Amino acid sequence: MDRGFLFGDGVYEVFPIYNNNIFGLDSHLNRLQTGLDAINITNPHSNIEWLKLIKKVISFNKDINQAVYLQVSRGCDEDRKHTHNTLTPTVYIQSTGIQPRTKDSLLSGKSVISREDIRWLQCNTKATSLLANIMYSQEAKELGSEEAILYRDNVVTEGSSSNVFIVKNDCIFTHPKGQHILPGITREVVIKTAKLLNLKIKENAFDMTSLMNADEVWITSSTREILPITTVDNKIINNGLAGPIWSVIYDQYQTLKTLKE
Ligand code: PMP
Repeated sequence: MDRGFLFGDGVYEVFPIYNNNIFGLDSHLNRLQTGLDAINITNPHSNIEWLKLIKKVISFNKDINQAVYLQVSRGCDEDRKHTHNTLTPTVYIQSTGIQPRTKDSLLSGKSVISREDIRWLQCNTKATSLLANIMYSQEAKELGSEEAILYRDNVVTEGSSSNVFIVKNDCIFTHPKGQHILPGITREVVIKTAKLLNLKIKENAFDMTSLMNADEVWITSSTREILPITTVDNKIINNGLAGPIWSVIYDQYQTLKTLKE
């Protein structure tokens, strides 16, 4: 009778763990709180309690690099009705070992497909109901692609499970925050890193033509980090090579991962 199972009535987070250290803990816990607030679920734990729970799950796993998946659903009800009573949220946490990809393995980039974004207008909530997203991901996988990049009215929003960046004439662009995209934690780190390195970066929307004619395309997420894209719908970007700005940001990201928070 759990509404997470019955309706996808919940929110989730994915925390990357490097060397047993939780990367971006506060940002992920803040986004969890924002998501719970958005769907009126009372946060069942304080941040200190969350930290203890996450550390406990990490300790059960031998890998030093892991991805912790945490879900809070509205809980179990007596009736299978769309409406609900005040319930006790269900918490589910798991951790999986991850093997970060080496830089060398990324230099030739990955391929993506593009698809029209038909999702709802609350994409900033990290909801567990992911039907559209998983359909896009599955289609990409079946076509041998890494990801599906989505566009709404010809404007690129994000990937089915990632944010999208392009570089044109040494300026980096990514879709602004709002109802059309998930405010990715990796996206935020990339923006901060670019500013620290005095690179030009604009949170401005760009269209499909700009994507196809970009000097560089990347996608970002907590588990994929910053992934160069060199083929979009079979069109080759930057002669099939990861670009120089990606390389600088990627290196800086690897350094940040080693810092204890
Ligand atoms: N957009 C969507 C739709 C996602 O599912 C994800 C990853 N969960 C992201 C963006 C990237 O977010 P983050 O960098 O926080 O992993």
